[in-house]
Amino acid sequence: MATYDVANRSAIVTGAGSGIGEAVAEVLAANGAAVVVADLDGEAARAVVERLTVEGATAVALQGDASDVDFHAEAVAEAERLAPLRIAVNNAGIGGGAANVAEYPLDQWRKVLGVNLDGVFHGLQAQIPVMAGHGGGSIVNMSSMLGSVGFAGNSAYVTTKHALQGLTKNAAIEYGAQGVRVNAVGPGFVQTPAVAAALDEATQKDLAAKHVLGRMARPDEVAQLVAFLASDAASFVTGSYHLVDGGYTAT
Ligand code: NAP
Repeated sequence: MATYDVANRSAIVTGAGSGIGEAVAEVLAANGAAVVVADLDGEAARAVVERLTVEGATAVALQGDASDVDFHAEAVAEAERLAPLRIAVNNAGIGGGAANVAEYPLDQWRKVLGVNLDGVFHGLQAQIPVMAGHGGGSIVNMSSMLGSVGFAGNSAYVTTKHALQGLTKNAAIEYGAQGVRVNAVGPGFVQTPAVAAALDEATQKDLAAKHVLGRMARPDEVAQLVAFLASDAASFVTGSYHLVDGGYTAT
C-alpha cells in the first residue's frame, strides 16, 4: 500500500460517512492525519470514526449539512482542536433527480447547486484563511469526470461539477502565494452506495463497460489520488483537475 506525507496535521473530509469520502478519511487517517469525519448522516460518521479509532487513528465525527455555512466553521474548529488544519477534502455531493433541462425540477436544481457548488464555496471560505495562517495547506474538491463531459438527464449535477473546475482554479490562483494548493478530482463511476441506490443493475453494467478498464472504480482507487494531492509529495500541484476515470473520457 502506498504511503503519503500527511502526518502532524488535521484534515476535514465532508461526506466521509460513506463511499469515496469514507475511503479518503481512511487513507488520510492511516497515514497519520487527524481526521474530522463530517457527514449529514451522524451515525454513519460515528461508525467510520469508531473503525478508524480501533485501527489506531485520530478521528472525530461531525454531523452537519455541507450546504450550511456554519457547518464549515464548526468543522474547522473541530479540526484545529486536533492539530493544525492543513488538508480539506470537499467531497459531499448529491446526484439530484433525472430529467432533461426543460423539465428539470427547480427545487432539485437548487438543492444540487446548494450542496455540490455552494457547499464547496462555503468550505473554501472557512478553510482557506486558517490554512493560510498556518503557512499553507492542500484542498481537494470532489468534482467528477462529469466536470468535463455532459451526461443526459443530469444537468444540475453536470453543471456543478464543471463549475468546480472554475472555483478550484480561482482559489488556487488567489491563494498560491500563501501556500494553499487547491485541486479538483474527477472520478469516473465509482461503486458507492450513491451509485447502487441511483442506478439499476443493468444500467450499472452498461456504464461499467464504458470505462476503458471495463469496470467502475473502487472508492479506495479515488482515495489514493486524493491522498497524493493532499500530501507534501504534491507540493508543485495546484489549480488543476485530475481524472481518475478508468479511461471513460478518453474514448
Ligand atoms: P455517497 O456514497 O452517497 O456518500 C456521500 C456521503 O455524503 C453520504 O454519507 C451522504 O449522506 C453525505 N452527504 C450527502 N449530502 C450531504 C450534505 N449536504 N452534507 C454533508 N454530507 C452529505 O456518495 P459518493 O458516491 O461517495 O460520492 C461522493 C462524492 O464523489 C460526491 O461529490 C460525488 O458527486 C462524487 N462522485 C461520485 C462518483 C460515483 O460514481 N460514485 C463519481 C464521480 C464523483 P447521506 O447518505 O445521509 O445522504
